[in-house]
Amino acid sequence: MVKSLNQIRNDFPILDQKVNDEDLVYLDNAATTQKPRAVVEALAHYYYTDNANVHRGVHTLAERATADFEAAREKVRAFINARSTTEVLFTRGTTTSLNWIAASYGEKVIGAGDEIVISYMEHHSNLVPWQQLALRKKATLKYIKMTADGHLDMTDAAEQITDKTKIVAIAQVSNVLGVVNPIKALAKLAHEHGAIMVADGAQSLPNMPVDVQELDCDFLAFSGHKMLGPTGIGVLYGKEAILNEMPPIEFGGEMIDFVDLFQSSWKELPWKFEAGTPDISGAIGLGAAIDYLSAIGMANVQAHEQELVNYVLPKLLAIDDLTVYGPHDPAQHTGVIAFNLNGLHPHDLATGLDMEGVAVRAGHHCAQPLMKYLKVPATARASFYLYNTKADADRLVDAIVATKEFFK
Ligand code: PLP
Repeated sequence: MVKSLNQIRNDFPILDQKVNDEDLVYLDNAATTQKPRAVVEALAHYYYTDNANVHRGVHTLAERATADFEAAREKVRAFINARSTTEVLFTRGTTTSLNWIAASYGEKVIGAGDEIVISYMEHHSNLVPWQQLALRKKATLKYIKMTADGHLDMTDAAEQITDKTKIVAIAQVSNVLGVVNPIKALAKLAHEHGAIMVADGAQSLPNMPVDVQELDCDFLAFSGHKMLGPTGIGVLYGKEAILNEMPPIEFGGEMIDFVDLFQSSWKELPWKFEAGTPDISGAIGLGAAIDYLSAIGMANVQAHEQELVNYVLPKLLAIDDLTVYGPHDPAQHTGVIAFNLNGLHPHDLATGLDMEGVAVRAGHHCAQPLMKYLKVPATARASFYLYNTKADADRLVDAIVATKEFFK
């Protein structure tokens, strides 16, 4: 990496604290990541020096705020290699982005008998909007199966996606199984049948290089807070030709061109979809997060996480009574690792780990259909990020063993 791991850790003051008398090990990054000084300082700078509403004022602060806000959009564009900033919409996060596609594109395009294809490993945010759309429109929701080790079954995908399919919506990285799904191949399959491809990038954007032109997905949704940015800001990327044909979802200030008593017209992309005062500071904070990640390089972020997975996965697999979900080959597993200690509820396991200063998530991870598929009510989940170390991985392994002994 350009910066040493120590330098990176110094950028995250929150990591330097004790929890239950132990040095904190933060391994809940798939839920939300910590924020570097650069992001917090960008927020402070905006509020201390530039705060004003965007797109409206002619005064200097308003012009500065607008320039900073739109500069953040350009940073997002470059980060995902979109063709134009017209394709980058600011939203509240992945959930809002996916709901917008269902509410606008889905409402317009889906009819009775049409098919929407998702998978068993989807987060509720990439499941319920499609389920509800299908119910409203009398369309059919179909699920692609998984292989025994938790990969998307591409043979089944080829069978599920048919000429009736209008939308294929899949996570690029599973928030439970840690697998990377082949969005490019799925997009090709979808396009061959005249369907569009929606990629849920909530867990991929933070951890690997993502190029929307290379993937050829029609939409990509992601959240700022999972990639070092503030909460409350996210992105919906969409191909311009498709966004142009979509009706706005919300109406009001900011998104209008002209309003008369009984009719109105809309602004051009991307503002047509951004009704009301946007999350200006959030976008600026996300821009600062993208600067931070880009300076390190997403390939380096990915390589660092892979090194941690290569180190920790065999150690986890060697713990008696620990079930690890998803592929057991480290080369096929990202830094999201779900597990259960047989006989112990995952909440007890996570509480035991917290007693040792290790923060992990426990629950269904907003993926209840996946839990049903795996035949478990819940799992514990450790998720690594660019500031985690091999010492953090050792602390996780030791804390699991200590918790196992405690509950014996
Ligand atoms: N999709 C996936 C794969 C996720 O992991 C998450 C969050 O955990 C979401 C969607 C929803 O993201 P948000 O809560 O930021 O909208």
